[in-house]
Amino acid sequence: MKEYGLYIHIPFCKHKCYYCDFYSIVCLDSSLINSYIYAIEKEIIHFFEKFKIFYPLISTIYIGGGTPSILNVDQIEKLFLILLKYFNFKNLKEITIELNPESVTEEKLRYIKDLFFSLTSNVRVSLGVQTFNESILKSIGRIHTQRDIFNSIRLFKKVDLNNYNFDLIFGLPGQGIEDIKKDLEYISKFMPPHISYYALTLEDNTILRNLGYVPDEDLQAEIYKMIVDFLLKNEYNIYEISNFAKKGYECLHNLGYWRRNEYIGLGCSSSSFLGDIRVMNLSKVYEYVNFDFIYEIEKLNFEISMKEKIILSLRTDEGLFLEKDILDKYGNIIEKMIKEKKLVVEDNYLKIPIEYKFISNQILVEFI
Ligand code: SF4
Repeated sequence: MKEYGLYIHIPFCKHKCYYCDFYSIVCLDSSLINSYIYAIEKEIIHFFEKFKIFYPLISTIYIGGGTPSILNVDQIEKLFLILLKYFNFKNLKEITIELNPESVTEEKLRYIKDLFFSLTSNVRVSLGVQTFNESILKSIGRIHTQRDIFNSIRLFKKVDLNNYNFDLIFGLPGQGIEDIKKDLEYISKFMPPHISYYALTLEDNTILRNLGYVPDEDLQAEIYKMIVDFLLKNEYNIYEISNFAKKGYECLHNLGYWRRNEYIGLGCSSSSFLGDIRVMNLSKVYEYVNFDFIYEIEKLNFEISMKEKIILSLRTDEGLFLEKDILDKYGNIIEKMIKEKKLVVEDNYLKIPIEYKFISNQILVEFI
């Protein structure tokens, strides 16, 4: 029986960060969040009818945002009562929830732990650290402090949630090599099993972009090398360009995206991948809570699917299996880049070597 990943988008935040392009609104109104959770049930019914899905088997759950930890215990409970009604979790292999340090409480963590462990033994929490530097946190509009980060980690340990990720960014305003060294020192104190370390990129509609900030790409390349060296030395595996894990702690949900496994996305701005179609939920929160679910559906032909496969696979350390169709269409490009040492072949899998990972976009663009 077919298995799906399940993504739930919680589009609420206490404050908008200056670099953020994710779909979220500032919300301090619990009743709007309650309405949103209620609307998720309506969306499930609508989605299943539209795409002819019934009680699907789910392999992984990822609750992202926005700020999922803005939900209180009652709201998390309500959300899961709905999910348990419509999805089959008997083969569930992983659940992840994103948490912002300022909204982590012991009560919430204990509740999450008990609920999630009743569904699977692989429970992940992902902490939006970004950086440990207080003045940089302020300058990017984050509302948490270093103390909130330490408190969250202390609580993870206290309630026994040991499979945690740090979400970090480099290339932030005012962030130099010395600041990154300090962040790496903090990382080495905790050694989380998983680290997502992203180079800052700014979309046009972000506050920092409008203020004229442009990340220095040469500096980012230097920092990326430092981060990779540090993490390799500390026995992390670079299993995707921006994702590093201790052995066995890779995020199965994200691996599913990169391997092009099918997934269902619920909530505003989520997307779904159902074999030969990609579905984007374009609804805004106020439309969504009125059950006005707006989808854009893209039919993926053979060529688009092949391009997606190349781009997603080359981001991972597994690489791209060199099947005949790919060689027939892209053999010349691949050969040229192998000569330039931008690509290597290992056991019939094409990969980007470590020294070119940071400029992978320049390599991937050749296939578009
Ligand atoms: S908390 Fe996350 S989703 Fe919310 S505004 Fe900040 S970066 Fe964006």
